[in-house]
Amino acid sequence: MSTIPNFGRVLECPYNRAHQITEERMQRHLIKCKKQYPKVKMLLCPFNSTHYLEAAEYMAHLRLCRDRSLVETFRYVVEPSGNSGQSVQRAKAPSPTPLCPDEENWDDMAAPAYNPTKYCIENKIIRKAFHLTPSEKRDFYEQERIRHKELEKFAHTN
Ligand SMILES: [Zn+2]
Ligand SMILES: [Zn+2]
Repeated sequence: MSTIPNFGRVLECPYNRAHQITEERMQRHLIKCKKQYPKVKMLLCPFNSTHYLEAAEYMAHLRLCRDRSLVETFRYVVEPSGNSGQSVQRAKAPSPTPLCPDEENWDDMAAPAYNPTKYCIENKIIRKAFHLTPSEKRDFYEQERIRHKELEKFAHTN
């Protein structure tokens, strides 16, 4: 951090250390410079929008940033800057795992799609009647119907 008379505080551009930019201009400079270095992934300091940091420096900077005390709600300010796996993870972490809604959803989805009894009955019929012609199938079902009636009669008479 150096000072140039009449220019106020001068900061190094994180994209290129050769860029010496005054604090007031840094934000605009960074927007431009970012486009010139699209492959450089920089994380934005949550305490100061002119602090762009390489991923390796990011966590250390958060602890040391001189603007940290200015920001009370640090946890809520950490927003994904669009180019950081780290900050995205951080932003997602606080959301609680919705266990109960998930379970309910599973039930809702499973109920119409999978009815074990229905599935078994249909499958049994398909398996049994698979190689039969339509008329044979009719006979098959008729026989089944009769057989069940007989069974019922048998059960009732005893
Ligand atoms: Zn620059
Ligand atoms: Zn900072």
